[in-house]
Amino acid sequence: MHYIDGSWIESANTFEVTNPATGETIGQVADGGAVEAAQAVAAANKAFASFAALTAYDRSALLYKAWTLMTERSEDLARLMTAEQGKPLKAARNEVKYAADFLLWYAEEAKRVYGETIPSARANQRFMVMRQPVGVCAAITPWNYPISMITRKIGPALAAGCTMVLKPAEQTPLCAIAMFKIFDEVGIPAGVVNMVNTSSPEEVGNVWLQDSRVRKFTFTGSTEVGKQLASQAVSNVKRVSMELGGHAPFIVFDDADPVHAAKGLSLLKFLNTGQACISPNRIYVQRTIAEEFLQTLTTRVAAMQAGEGTTDGVTIGPLVDTASVDKVERQVQDALDKGAKLLTGGQRLNEGGLDKGHFFAPTVLSDITPDMRIHNEETFGPVAPVIVFDDERDILDKANDTAYGLAAYLYTDDISRAWRIAEGLRFGIIGINDINPTSAAAPFGGMNESGLGREGGHVGLDEYLDTKLVGWTV
Ligand code: NAP
Repeated sequence: MHYIDGSWIESANTFEVTNPATGETIGQVADGGAVEAAQAVAAANKAFASFAALTAYDRSALLYKAWTLMTERSEDLARLMTAEQGKPLKAARNEVKYAADFLLWYAEEAKRVYGETIPSARANQRFMVMRQPVGVCAAITPWNYPISMITRKIGPALAAGCTMVLKPAEQTPLCAIAMFKIFDEVGIPAGVVNMVNTSSPEEVGNVWLQDSRVRKFTFTGSTEVGKQLASQAVSNVKRVSMELGGHAPFIVFDDADPVHAAKGLSLLKFLNTGQACISPNRIYVQRTIAEEFLQTLTTRVAAMQAGEGTTDGVTIGPLVDTASVDKVERQVQDALDKGAKLLTGGQRLNEGGLDKGHFFAPTVLSDITPDMRIHNEETFGPVAPVIVFDDERDILDKANDTAYGLAAYLYTDDISRAWRIAEGLRFGIIGINDINPTSAAAPFGGMNESGLGREGGHVGLDEYLDTKLVGWTV
């Protein structure tokens, strides 16, 4: 189903949604295209003036109601997410909570869209700066965080007074439909939020990019697709936000506790089976503690249980599709061919009932070198590639040696070193002895080819606001 102008709409064609852990079909979803995309923009455009004219308190109340209903439905949403996307139930519950936080936080922040007055050099002149919603926004979201990537955009857009058209990922439309049911039930006015499902993302994206009524384009997904979309958005000078891929360094210095750092890495790297934009992709550990770090890491990773996310004890879910398993396997094989050492894992998992899903064993590789694909390409899978280093002096050059710039992590108990390294890392998010530097209240986003703009926090709201200067002769 699509949700356009406050109504649920079917299409003649449908596409199938499957459970990546079992291969079972769990839904058929209306397959839209250019027609529905255009209808959605027309609805969002029609709704804009009256929605923008609501008071901030009214918009806040709508977001607060959506947060309340989402919270009531959190267990159903988490179970749906596990079935559709594959992450273990505990991780799905965490994502639902994180996603709901954006609705609550922006319900509060909606009331704080302040302007300013500025002194003038002319005695009879006054300056006033207003913040106003940018207008109709188009959003495209990925499958790996199928609910939070929606609320991270819709929360601030609605707080600002924008209306939105959104296309969720093809693999996870059911989570998106469940969220739009919430928006519908809490009385968000018709046309304010619209959703089009499609198996032809380019067709829908093109309509939204070409339509000059769409004033902002916000995308979360791969750098490759993000670059194409951003270049097209230039043609009618849309505002653009891009949350793209990453290749995070994770640096463990010799003054840190190697056991604690290995525990942190095992939790962070294998979260969502490595399918996270902020997942570590190059793990640097200083030589004097490398053995203890690798031993702890390998023991923990070897004990991880893969399977369907609703099974007790499972911490590793499936990858999203066969192509993802192929990519991980190619990177591991390439590393092994070029001299990497396999410490655990390294193969597809087909036994014990896993043959119908897309499973790859949680893997630790050491002796990684810069010529290996895994050193440069985003893995998006359950593989921890480890590099031993000797000297702090060249670690910043190594860590920064990537086109990406999303997240970076370091473990150290030396506060001067922590400051020095955090300042030198060219990444938008830094975790110091911290494996979860994210929150609805904090800015999330990347430098370099990891993106443009930030989501979350008050800067996430700025992305949906225009600044207007009023000069006034009194
Ligand atoms: P993707 O292939 O770029 O797809 C993302 C979204 O874009 C999907 O909805 C997809 O639709 C759509 N899309 C693909 N090609 C398109 C086109 N030509 N025109 C319009 N839309 C198009 O990325 P993914 O594999 O789903 O997601 C994983 C990537 O997202 C990783 O690189 C990850 O690092 C990044 N990510 C970044 C963040 C962040 O905040 N920085 C957060 C999460 C994920 P279909 O589903 O129909 O293909």
